[in-house]
Amino acid sequence: MSTDNAAGCAPLLDGPLVELTLFAAGYCRHPEFFTIRGGSWRPVPFPAGFALIRHPQHGYILFDTGYSRRFVEETRRLPQLLYRMITPVVFREEDGAVSQLGRKGIQAEEIGTVVLSHFHADHTAGLRDFPRARFIYKREAYAAVNKLSPFAAVKAGYLSGLLPEDFGERSAFMEDVSPYPLPGSFPFEHGYDLLGDGSLVAVDLPGHAAGQTGLLLRTAEGEVFLCADAVWSSRAFREDRKPHPAARIIMADAGEYGQSFRRLIRLHREYPQLLIIPSHCGEALGWTGEERRP
Ligand SMILES: [Zn+2]
Repeated sequence: MSTDNAAGCAPLLDGPLVELTLFAAGYCRHPEFFTIRGGSWRPVPFPAGFALIRHPQHGYILFDTGYSRRFVEETRRLPQLLYRMITPVVFREEDGAVSQLGRKGIQAEEIGTVVLSHFHADHTAGLRDFPRARFIYKREAYAAVNKLSPFAAVKAGYLSGLLPEDFGERSAFMEDVSPYPLPGSFPFEHGYDLLGDGSLVAVDLPGHAAGQTGLLLRTAEGEVFLCADAVWSSRAFREDRKPHPAARIIMADAGEYGQSFRRLIRLHREYPQLLIIPSHCGEALGWTGEERRP
């Protein structure tokens, strides 16, 4: 155990420091019990988080995008409307990633890369707003959804109309980048060195969606793991509380989900200095939780 702790205190990454800012672009409501064991039946808000990363050489990079106006347009008709019926979304124009970045003085054209954790619509809805970005994701993640029928796609949380027409040409695959050597004590096996300098390392987190990945990075304040939807709240890994068994219905692979969940708990215990941030955890995102009616 003491060896683990010693390993856990050593830095995971050796690349340049990056700056990280967390946002939420809209939110949806789910009964809490669905997302965490012992949660209430009351619907609670889940912000659609995304992250802005500033790399000293590569400039601005996004991790996912949250919701967008395009999501509202795409879900006006059946079968896509089913998505919004099951997951009621609250979104205003000014909530969009592109609007929020604009208010910080960052233009859409300045986003050079979007790292996609997986293809659920609350992570991909803003992609069309960034015309100069290339997209990095797992080939496996896209292959699992891009040939589905419209109805099956909605069931898988995927809306093809959210992707720009030239999505394929602007894409690069994590499977093709150099592996990053993570320590043996690190609970996840594969690291993908996205920029080749050890600054941004994607990590496999399968189960919630096929080919889902999280992202390790290092800021001046310490190392961070953006863990996407491997859990829906920080309480889940802190208190070892899995989602309700009914949540299996929306998981690509419940067995793999359980394995990723256990590994995340180990990560939290063995690397207590690592800040783990789930995409939809208001507490971790510093989201104020302002409730607005749609
Ligand atoms: Zn998801």
